[in-house]
Amino acid sequence: MCGIVGYIGNREASPILLSGLKRLEYRGYDSAGLALIEDFPAIAENGQRHSGIHAVGRLVVEKCKGKVTDLEAMAADHPHHATIGIGHTRWATHGAPSDVNSHPQTDESGRIAIIHNGIIENYSHIKDRLLARGHTFKSETDTEVLAHLIGEFYVDGRSLTEAVRLALNEVVGAYGIAVLAADAPEEIVCARKGSPLVLGVGSDNENFIASDAAAIIAHTRQVIYLADNEMATVTRAGIKTRTISNVEITKPVEVIEMELEAIEKGGYDHFMLKEIHEQPRTITDAMRGRVVEEEGNIVLGGLQSHLDELRQAKRLILTACGTSFHAALIGKYMIEQYARVPVEVEYASEFRYRNPIIEEGDVMFGISQSGETADTLAAMREGKGKGALALGIVNVVGSTIARESNGGVYIHAGPEIGVASTKAFTSQLTVLSLLTIMLGRMRHLSVVDGRAMIRKLLEIPEKVQRTLESTERQIRELSDTFKNASNFLYLGRGYNYPVALEGALKLKEISYIHAEGYPAAEMKHGPIALIDENMPVVVVAPQDEVYEKVLSNIQEVRARKGHVIAIATEGDEQIGALAEQVIYIPATLSMLTPILSVIPLQLLSYYIATARGCNVDQPRNLAKSVTVE
Ligand code: GLU
Repeated sequence: MCGIVGYIGNREASPILLSGLKRLEYRGYDSAGLALIEDFPAIAENGQRHSGIHAVGRLVVEKCKGKVTDLEAMAADHPHHATIGIGHTRWATHGAPSDVNSHPQTDESGRIAIIHNGIIENYSHIKDRLLARGHTFKSETDTEVLAHLIGEFYVDGRSLTEAVRLALNEVVGAYGIAVLAADAPEEIVCARKGSPLVLGVGSDNENFIASDAAAIIAHTRQVIYLADNEMATVTRAGIKTRTISNVEITKPVEVIEMELEAIEKGGYDHFMLKEIHEQPRTITDAMRGRVVEEEGNIVLGGLQSHLDELRQAKRLILTACGTSFHAALIGKYMIEQYARVPVEVEYASEFRYRNPIIEEGDVMFGISQSGETADTLAAMREGKGKGALALGIVNVVGSTIARESNGGVYIHAGPEIGVASTKAFTSQLTVLSLLTIMLGRMRHLSVVDGRAMIRKLLEIPEKVQRTLESTERQIRELSDTFKNASNFLYLGRGYNYPVALEGALKLKEISYIHAEGYPAAEMKHGPIALIDENMPVVVVAPQDEVYEKVLSNIQEVRARKGHVIAIATEGDEQIGALAEQVIYIPATLSMLTPILSVIPLQLLSYYIATARGCNVDQPRNLAKSVTVE
């Protein structure tokens, strides 16, 4: 989620690191920092390095909450001469954005500095162990725990590489890391699992590390991509790679042909498409460290101090706007089915102004990607003021909703740049599924059922990947056929009724085609009058409890010459005879189908919008974070 840059060579490290960080900053990070090893006498006046001296450099860390320019000003105030260093822009997952939570984080002795991209799932377990051994921690981050763990292994003449390797063998989670140690001033050790890391091969005794090639492209186009479970020791003279299980490997050096702008978008044409494709990973991140499969249960850290209130809750109120509101509607279906607690879903903008009734035992969840949505925030304040327990489901750590609520769950989707929300939606659904299982297990759900649901949920990232791979081409072609339509109708029932709303919203937002989402059965009470040979109708029709009913609705559309595009379950041949186009998604639990069925709808709106020449990342009149009412 964050940005990583590392440099070792003969030039001043700071400016290289700072300009690299600026290249990554467009994603809206919350803090930044540098660690440098100040030059020691091993470098002579003429820039030549003395050999054979085992030296200890001075490790300096500069970091602060805010933008890279704030860090730059700080670095200018405290100039350090260093030719080795690492830099980081943070996108908080553990602990709010603050000076102490910024990276680099250091170990107990202060001689090791680490920057980290990702989430250490078992950090609290490791932290407890280290606390018992007398460690003290300055920050709330998972990263600091890893720094201390590396420090524990960096003893007895062990190399830094070996210490990092041993520590990583104890870690569960996702990481891209770069590590510096004061007494190993000639190397940077880095490793990757689940978060990207690329090494830049420089020409003049210098090498680079980055989470994204955009940060180093100004210096070199020759790169080595680390794969999961691989690590590297980067020195001036070269790069040594091995696996985390200690097998030396030789990696090919590749040449980046892409231009900077394309690199920033991960090779995709737009951030929105990149974010659509990130979903297998972001859904995994939303579940990371929260699933206890054996017990068929879920642990959500931010709700731990409210378990009693949740157990005794008489009613849940989910409040949100836009795409988050659609996630809330699906949440209602899930929670009521499995946890049997009444759930009300309400637009935040309505809730806040209508004098809502709040009673004892009411628990409110405000759902917002940015955590700054003005209406959702006001609704939360209203509910909280009237005595409800107010909890947040947000993406941005430390955002206003996160700070003002009594607790909550982060969705950990990483920065979302495309104005039309995609990955935040599926991460919200993932978190709502986790919440459903947790609330269910507090009430009527058995271990066995909880476990079965968890297994289905764990399969989702791979199924999303499959959906992306198997449908994208078909959808691109289809978009060409329908790009000139003036209206679209989206239909779905049950869990997929809110998906129909979301599909229609996506299309409106970025292609400016008028689209309406409807519960399929409601069509005959009005919208059916609109159907003629010019009306494309997208029907979300997986094989769930209401499948047969949806087939009848498709018949009704066909009878009026509407064009049916169906989203159906793999292997469903029956629907092929009815719909003009069928887009297949893998089978899963009904509750989880929205996470799969929305993927083709995201792609459909994206490809129709691009075929119409629209600016999908910044659609007209829309803002990413709606901070006005
Ligand atoms: N989990 C780490 C933190 O919250 C890293 C976040 C990031 O990837 O920027 O500090």
